[in-house]
Amino acid sequence: MAKISGATLMARALKQQGVDYMFGVVGFPVVPIAYAAEAEGITYVGMRNEQSASYAAQAAGYLTGRPQACLVVSGPGVVHGLAGLANAQSNCWPMILIGGASPTDNNGRGAFQEERQVLLASPLCKYAHGVERVERIPFYVEQAVRRALYGRPGATYLDMPDEVITGEIEDDEVEPAPTVAEPPRGLAQPDSIEAALDALESAERPLVIVGKGMSWSRAEDEVRQFIERTQVPFLATPMGKGVVSDDHPLSVGAARSLALAEADVIFLMGARLNWILHFGLPPRFSKDVRVIQLDLSPEEMSNNVQTEVALVGDGKAVTGQLNDALEKRQWFCPSDTPWRAAIAEKIEANLAAVAPMIADNSTPMNYFRAYDDIVPRLPKNAIIIGEGANTMDIGRTQMPNFGARERLDSGSYGTMGVGLGFAIAAATVHPDRPVVVVQGDSAFGFSGMEVETAARKGMPLKIIILNNGGIAGGYEGDGALPPHALMHGARYEKIAEAFGGTGFYVEDPADLGPTLDKAMAADGLVIVNVKISATAGKKPQKYTWLDSGQSTSMN
Ligand code: ADP
Ligand code: MG
Repeated sequence: MAKISGATLMARALKQQGVDYMFGVVGFPVVPIAYAAEAEGITYVGMRNEQSASYAAQAAGYLTGRPQACLVVSGPGVVHGLAGLANAQSNCWPMILIGGASPTDNNGRGAFQEERQVLLASPLCKYAHGVERVERIPFYVEQAVRRALYGRPGATYLDMPDEVITGEIEDDEVEPAPTVAEPPRGLAQPDSIEAALDALESAERPLVIVGKGMSWSRAEDEVRQFIERTQVPFLATPMGKGVVSDDHPLSVGAARSLALAEADVIFLMGARLNWILHFGLPPRFSKDVRVIQLDLSPEEMSNNVQTEVALVGDGKAVTGQLNDALEKRQWFCPSDTPWRAAIAEKIEANLAAVAPMIADNSTPMNYFRAYDDIVPRLPKNAIIIGEGANTMDIGRTQMPNFGARERLDSGSYGTMGVGLGFAIAAATVHPDRPVVVVQGDSAFGFSGMEVETAARKGMPLKIIILNNGGIAGGYEGDGALPPHALMHGARYEKIAEAFGGTGFYVEDPADLGPTLDKAMAADGLVIVNVKISATAGKKPQKYTWLDSGQSTSMN
C-alpha cells in the first residue's frame, strides 16, 4: 500500500477537476503543493506578488472556461490574494484561491502568519472552507470547483493547514470525488422568448447591449447570428467587446452615448445595469426605457430598472432559442429609419471631434495621437489588456477587438494593477497568440515587477506604457507635486532591459510608429514607454459624473 501526501492529493484533485494552471507565490506552508502541482501536470507560474497571482488565476479561468488556481502562503499571502478574490467575484469569473494556514494545533497561540483566513475570505467569495483532513481533500476541491463554476461564476477559497499539506494517508483511505461536469446550460421559458422578440419588434429605437456574460458563455456564434438576423444595432460593454467584431457595421460603439440615451428598448445580453452602464438611469438612458434582460442569474433581473421581459438562462443556449424562434418570423430592424440615421450621423460627428487630436503632432503627445499609431500595429488575433484611467477609457474606444475574450481590463471592480497578471495568464493559456498590454504609468506601477515573471517564463509580452506622469492626470508646473502626480518621464522601459527584454522610450510622435514596428517585430518581451502630455485627456464629455474616474462614457 502506497502513501500519498496532502500536497499530492490536492494537486491530483485539482488536475482531475480540469484545473490546469496554478499561479502563486510559495513559502511556508504551501511549497509542497507547488511541487506536487508540477509533478501532476499542472502548469505552475511563480509570481512576485499574490495580488497579481490571483488576478492571473481568474483571467485564466475566464479564458479557459474552468476555474484555475492561485496558491498563496498563510496570513499576509492570503490577505494579498483577497484582492483577486474580490475582483473575480465582481467580474463573475471563476477562480480558486488556495491559502496555506498555520498548523491547526497552534491556533490562538500567535503562530507564524496565523490569521482567521476563512473568515476574511467569506464575504469576498461564493464559498470558503477549511480542509480539516487529508482524506477529504478531493471532496473540498470538488466543492470549490463546482461552486466557482455553477450558477453565476465567482471565486472560492480553500484553507490548507500545514498538517493537512504535509500529512500522509494510505491510498485506499482517500475519499474520491466525482469530476465536475460542464455547467448545465439552462433554457429560458418558451413564452419569454416570444415576449422578448415581440418587445424588440415593437421598438422604434432598439439596442442590443452585449456584455462579458456572453463572452464567458462562449455565445459569440449565436450572438452574431442574432444580430445579423435581426439587424438590431449593438453596443459592446468593455469586455463584451469582440463577441461580435467591433468592425461590424451594426456596432454603435462610436456613438455610445447617443445610442444609450435614445434607445426605447434595450436588450441586455449578459451585462448588468451597474456603474459601467450608468445604472440604466436618466440622463444617460431614456426615462421610459424598456428592458429585455438575458442573464443566468434571476436575482439580477430588474436591478435598477424594472425588467419587462426576463430571459433567465444560459447566454449561448437562450440566444440559440431566440435564433430558432426567429425562423418563424419575418421581422427585422430596417436600416432606413431615423434611428439608424441618427446613429450614423453621430458616429461621423464623433470621428470628426477627435480628428484634431489625432492630427496634433505636438510633443509630448496626446492619447489619440498615440493610439493612432498603436491601433494599426495590433495583431488581429492579439489578446489586448488595457488599464489606467485615460489610457483604458480612450483605449476602449480606439482599439478594436475582432474576437471574443480578447480584451481584458479593470472590469466591474475597476481594479488598477490587474494588467500584468492578466497578461501573464493570457500568455500562459494562449502561448501561440500575441499579448499586448496598453497601460498607464500608474497602472504599470502596481505590478511592474511581474515583468520579471514574464521574462523568466519567456513570455514575449508587448507592454506599451502611456506615461502622463500621474494617476489619471499628471502635473505640469513648478509647485510642489500634488497627490496624483508621479514622476513624469520615468524610464519604466529599463525594467524590461533589467530582465533581458528590450526597452524603448518615445517622446516625439514622429518616432512612435517606427518604434512600435520594431517592438512588435522583436522576439522577446518589450516595453515601449511613451511620454504623454500631463494634461492630455478625453474629448469633452457631456456627463462627467458617474464616471468614477473610469469612464466608459466616450462619445
Ligand atoms: P459587463 O461588465 O460586460 O456589463 P457584467 O459583469 O456586468 O458584464 O454582467 C455579466 C452578467 O452576465 C452577470 O449578470 C452574470 O450573471 C451574467 N452571466 C454570466 N455567465 C452567464 C451565462 N453563461 N449566461 C448568461 N448570463 C451570464
Ligand atoms: Mg498616468
